[in-house]
Amino acid sequence: MISAHVLGFPRIGEHRELKFALERHWRGEIDADQLEAAGRELRARHWQLQRDAGLDFVTVGDFAFYDQVANHIQLLGCEPARFGFVEHESELARYFTMARGVAAEKEAQAECACGHSHGEARHALEMTKWFDTNYHYLVPEFDSHTQFKLSSRRLFGEVEEALKLGHRVKPVLLGPLSFLWLGKEKAAGFDRLSLLPQLLKAYAEILQRLGTAGIQWVQIDEPILGVDLPAAWRDAFAPAYEALRRADVSVLLATYFAPLRDNLALACSLPVAGLHVDAVRALDELETVTRQLPLERELSVGIVDGRNIWRGDLDLALDRLRTTLAHRNGRLWVAASCSLLHVPTTLREDKALDAELQSWLAGAKEKLDEIRVLKQALVDGPTAVRAELFAARSAQAARRSSPRVKNPAVAERAATLAADVDQRHAAFTRRQAIQQQRFKLPAFPTTTIGSFPQTAEIRAARAALRRGELAEGDYVEAMHREIAHAVKVQESLDIDVLVHGEAERNDMVEYFGEQLEGFAFTANGWVQSYGSRCVKPPVLFGDVSRPKAMTVDWTVYAQSLTKRPMKGMLTGPITILQWSFVRDDQPRSATALQIALAIRDEVCDLERAGIGIIQIDEPAIREGLPLRRADRAAYLAWATHAFRVSASGVHDETQIHTHMCYSEFNDILAEIAAMDADVITIETSRSDMELLAGFGSFRYPNEIGPGVYDIHSPRVPEVDEMVRLMRKAAEVVPARNLWVNPDCGLKTRGWPETEAALRNMVQAAKQMRQAG
Ligand code: GLN
Ligand code: ZN
Repeated sequence: MISAHVLGFPRIGEHRELKFALERHWRGEIDADQLEAAGRELRARHWQLQRDAGLDFVTVGDFAFYDQVANHIQLLGCEPARFGFVEHESELARYFTMARGVAAEKEAQAECACGHSHGEARHALEMTKWFDTNYHYLVPEFDSHTQFKLSSRRLFGEVEEALKLGHRVKPVLLGPLSFLWLGKEKAAGFDRLSLLPQLLKAYAEILQRLGTAGIQWVQIDEPILGVDLPAAWRDAFAPAYEALRRADVSVLLATYFAPLRDNLALACSLPVAGLHVDAVRALDELETVTRQLPLERELSVGIVDGRNIWRGDLDLALDRLRTTLAHRNGRLWVAASCSLLHVPTTLREDKALDAELQSWLAGAKEKLDEIRVLKQALVDGPTAVRAELFAARSAQAARRSSPRVKNPAVAERAATLAADVDQRHAAFTRRQAIQQQRFKLPAFPTTTIGSFPQTAEIRAARAALRRGELAEGDYVEAMHREIAHAVKVQESLDIDVLVHGEAERNDMVEYFGEQLEGFAFTANGWVQSYGSRCVKPPVLFGDVSRPKAMTVDWTVYAQSLTKRPMKGMLTGPITILQWSFVRDDQPRSATALQIALAIRDEVCDLERAGIGIIQIDEPAIREGLPLRRADRAAYLAWATHAFRVSASGVHDETQIHTHMCYSEFNDILAEIAAMDADVITIETSRSDMELLAGFGSFRYPNEIGPGVYDIHSPRVPEVDEMVRLMRKAAEVVPARNLWVNPDCGLKTRGWPETEAALRNMVQAAKQMRQAG
């Protein structure tokens, strides 16, 4: 008996219908009923796709108007009391309040340069990354008053909806342990695991109701089985699933994103009817699981990659599945490794991709088809799907041998790097002296992180250029005007190290990807990041090289307008890697190195053109951390190596900056220090400089610019506030190493508040100097 299914399907819609419906609803243009109708239509369409692909179930419960964890909070009736919801507020209104906060109308302004929304949404539930993906979930809040009580009928309604459409339904639920794990304790000394017994009662009720609705299989996701778990959490699994055992409903326990390792035996022994494993991220565990999982349980093999967009090697997959099948008494479920939420709905017929590239790629719809083909090959034998297997094989072969993928010069260069390619010439203290001589900056030098307001005019000019309505020369002229304006403002504010403002950049990764060989861009390859927000990651398909300089003209133009140092502005190799779909035919480390070499060439060109200070942004280094602690050192080693390769081609008198915008460094300080940037700017204002303490006690050796104000809000900070923060910083980091700058780039801000905030910031720096 072979079954086929997916753990979840993208909900945003092939044409981002959900995004647009949500935004219309938030603007008051459509009411709740119309929004619900839009959701219903998308669900129906996505279920039909699963059915048409011959899957044995449609997955229900993966849909959400904002986030599946937020749905779960309402299902369990544990909306935090702090929202003070009152009786008459509708479930949907409460949902959006939790998701977007009370100042939600300001949300559009509350986005920072990294594309994440924070700021005004301070009253909303916190948002954080879903494991190691770029999806963000809303963080549940727990304290000793938390009560679980089945509240929302939404899930059951959707189940009915699917049943009415004649589908065989498999609901999905986030598992009780993962749900608690992903939440946050809101009271000191409170242990959220203590909520488990109460929570299990609610789950039992959910299962009972699903059973009554005639549901046979329920998928329960426990992705935390792929992380390092404290013993208490691990020990909680067996009794929890024992408590959820029922005669009428079978549980398929789903794990994904990481190998099971020390949790493997536990996962195989839990009293559930089936286990799903990620056979892409943890292929080498498949054999052990195949042997350890008792034969009467179902094994779901996630063999189609749910995290990347490559068309799969079906021959290889089939081979693995056959081997597995032979040890499972002919019973097996074929699946994608994880929910397809993390890939675009489709990549076929994408207008921006040529036919060849399209034939190498697979979005969610195409992956459904891969699952169908694999199942059919197992059931009816490979000849039944000979044409499909042949097409997949040809695409694989074409991709493997394509000159678009392999560039011998790139490989040759990467293989023959000098041993010291990632080393600056002199050590930091020596460089610091040389650079002080050269730039003669005052104490507490001021700078910004790179971008200035991306005004509507700037975006209109870029759109007109794209549509061919604005000539290239006119576009350049318009951008030069923006740069000149930014320079003039910075000079009048008396900022020490200027930036050109990044007016010409659409996005900090796309801008570079578009100019490098090896990248492709889709027209419609959207992936949900959170809520209505989607990203369209570049597709890094081939060896990376830089046909010509990418930023030199703009930077040199900006420098020509001022005597002050103009900081060159680049995106670092790990951030480019992390925010793209990357190739699966070579290790990520090899791809990172190729990007690093291209950026290195740009750094050297900037230096040659007279640019003395160059910033290489790496906001995404932390995002790349593997889920398992044991894997982190290896990642950090190649990631920091790549950064250093990009930064080390210059002379000692050239000052390298880097920028990272997140607020957790303590566990990676040694590696951040090893990156050896002359100056690092970080986000600290919202943590009240607490974050710097770690840098202090670690004795971080190089210069640091701890952000003195939050750029996520239009609020203009007072001089005194920033002086207070700088004083706090000076207590833990030697004052001579401190810079003064905002938390992040200013592209989402308007000019008036930007100027006012920077004026106060410069004032604060001057007060620090006087206090000396
Ligand atoms: N230089 C970029 C900017 O200022 C950095 C953005 C980021 O850190 N995410 O926009
Ligand atoms: Zn930033």
